[in-house]
Amino acid sequence: MICGKCNVELKEEPTVFQYLGHELTHPVLRCPVCGQVYIPEDLVRGKMHEIESMLEEK
Ligand SMILES: [Zn+2]
Repeated sequence: MICGKCNVELKEEPTVFQYLGHELTHPVLRCPVCGQVYIPEDLVRGKMHEIESMLEEK
């Protein structure tokens, strides 16, 4: 993957997400120059679902 703006290769970095007051870390592709993060929609959906099921179990 290449950043369309900066024309540099994206690097995978652990990134902290916050959702419903929960913090989770997941590696995502990020542009080292402009900091733009590329998160596949599937990942977002999967993570949200993960947290929602965690909440429901309580
Ligand atoms: Zn960039």
